[in-house]
Amino acid sequence: MSGCYSLKDLERALSNDEFVYYYQPKVCMVTGEVCGTEALIRWQKPDCCVIRPSAFIPLAESSGLINDITLSMFQKLLIDKSIIHDNCDKLTISFNASAKDFLNNKLTEAIEHAINNHLISPDKLEIELTETVVLDEMKDVRDKLFQIQELGILLTMDDFGAGYSNINRLSKWPFSTIKLDTGLVGKISFSKKNLTIAQSSIMMAHQLGLDVVAEGIETENIYMTLHNIGCTQAQGCWISHPLPLFDFIEFIKLNRSWPTVATGSLYMAQLDHIQWRKTIIDTIFSLCNGDINELSQLRETPELDPTTCRLGIWYYGSGKKYKGNIWYDYLEEAHARLHKVGLKLIESALRGTSINRLIPLMRDLTEQSVVVIQMLQEIENESITEYTNVK
Ligand code: C2E
Ligand code: MG
Ligand code: MG
Repeated sequence: MSGCYSLKDLERALSNDEFVYYYQPKVCMVTGEVCGTEALIRWQKPDCCVIRPSAFIPLAESSGLINDITLSMFQKLLIDKSIIHDNCDKLTISFNASAKDFLNNKLTEAIEHAINNHLISPDKLEIELTETVVLDEMKDVRDKLFQIQELGILLTMDDFGAGYSNINRLSKWPFSTIKLDTGLVGKISFSKKNLTIAQSSIMMAHQLGLDVVAEGIETENIYMTLHNIGCTQAQGCWISHPLPLFDFIEFIKLNRSWPTVATGSLYMAQLDHIQWRKTIIDTIFSLCNGDINELSQLRETPELDPTTCRLGIWYYGSGKKYKGNIWYDYLEEAHARLHKVGLKLIESALRGTSINRLIPLMRDLTEQSVVVIQMLQEIENESITEYTNVK
């Protein structure tokens, strides 16, 4: 279809109000429930033919008409949003914007105006940024995106894993989420290389404190695989195709749920814990060696409070759903004990205690660390048993 339309066709369609949004649900892999939706543009022609964006967005982008389309679609999103939130107010709504939409102030001002006038709450709005490649050097765009982030709006890097040097861009731009590309996701069930790329991307995002959405999930097998490696949200035709607004409303009224099993989040919790222990050991080593070089200064400082370390954030956050599980309940005390040993170690090293005299405390740290890992794995075992029994 691409290439059949002229700029005049698109301008006419825009002035005739022929662009609409379809909505595709996103499922939270921790709760198994719909937690958000992505608005995807469609060109609904007067003859009822529905045209996909690949047939006209490239021309809109190259001609600059995309700016007018995005502004007009944002106003539509605000109307659709009221209808969606009347039916389910917890859903986050995301829309796609090209990085070019931030070359001028118009979109940022429209968003700011909507927030200031309470037309949408910033924590329910998310922007999926496409076409980020060409704009790396444009400082103005970056500044505007930081402005957007300061408003409290979430920014997603769309199509992660499709281009190159995305990782570099992640460190420079204020993203809160990465979205694994449809092409990558579609191949993980038959390509080990793609599975490894997906797994490493998820781990890296987790370390950077970013959420991971996988799009293009077409089978239960792909959903479960991504779940198992710690992906946090899922989207794809296995859950639902993009739907016209009122079909989407009917869909959310069904209150459907998708499988949840704790393996992915518990795997991440174990990795967080191993990483924390390593940070303690590295810090002790640097302190005892008087080794304050550039690398050791860049190194993460260990979080000594058990409620705010990464494992603690999981425990008192999404992990809370295991309350009542005996291993989960014991874990709190074991984890606090581990942190006490960690604190003692750091304090002793700061007082100048030699590494040899710290060995007994390091052994304590290892012992407590093994207990924590064992408890996490026991919760994992019970979660798997529960999941298989339900199936
Ligand atoms: P995207 O944002 O990465 O959206 C994902 C695309 O994957 C959508 O195509 C969606 O319909 C499709 N998809 C959903 N589930 C599956 C699945 O299970 N398997 C596969 N293979 N594909 C699936 P769509 O709607 O044709 O949109 C294509 C692209 O057009 C979008 O990719 C986005 O980059 C762009 N786009 C869509 N709406 C807008 C918009 O309003 N503004 C801008 N600037 N770009 C838009
Ligand atoms: Mg998108
Ligand atoms: Mg995408």
